Amino acid sequence: MATQAMAQGNEGDLLMLARGWGKIFAAEAFPDGVGPEVDFGQMEELASQGAQALMQGIVRELVRKQAVALGDTQPCPTCHSDCRVKWRQRGLQTRHGEVEMPEPMCHCTRCRRDFFPSTATSEA
Ligand SMILES: [Zn+2]
Repeated sequence: MATQAMAQGNEGDLLMLARGWGKIFAAEAFPDGVGPEVDFGQMEELASQGAQALMQGIVRELVRKQAVALGDTQPCPTCHSDCRVKWRQRGLQTRHGEVEMPEPMCHCTRCRRDFFPSTATSEA
């Protein structure tokens, strides 16, 4: 799944786009230029923070799009009644730190139980 974009042959384009965002990030971080007092460790730390924020933005957007595809209702796994999908925020630990993600949740009034439609976040 993660490679669907890659399978379409645009991996190079996506990575080039991310590098371009890196240039923009660097320009915004040092609008007056980078003086000799800035050492490589500081540059690396800034890049690390930027990469983490970029990763969080990408993952959050992908999860959001996946969640939207669920629709407004999901069938109860027990009685199969249509139940309204509600959203809550959930902190999810990733390789690059915790990310707040939208998580779908349903409540079946007939069965009086909550259930969580399957998404990438519910499987994490
Ligand atoms: Zn039910």
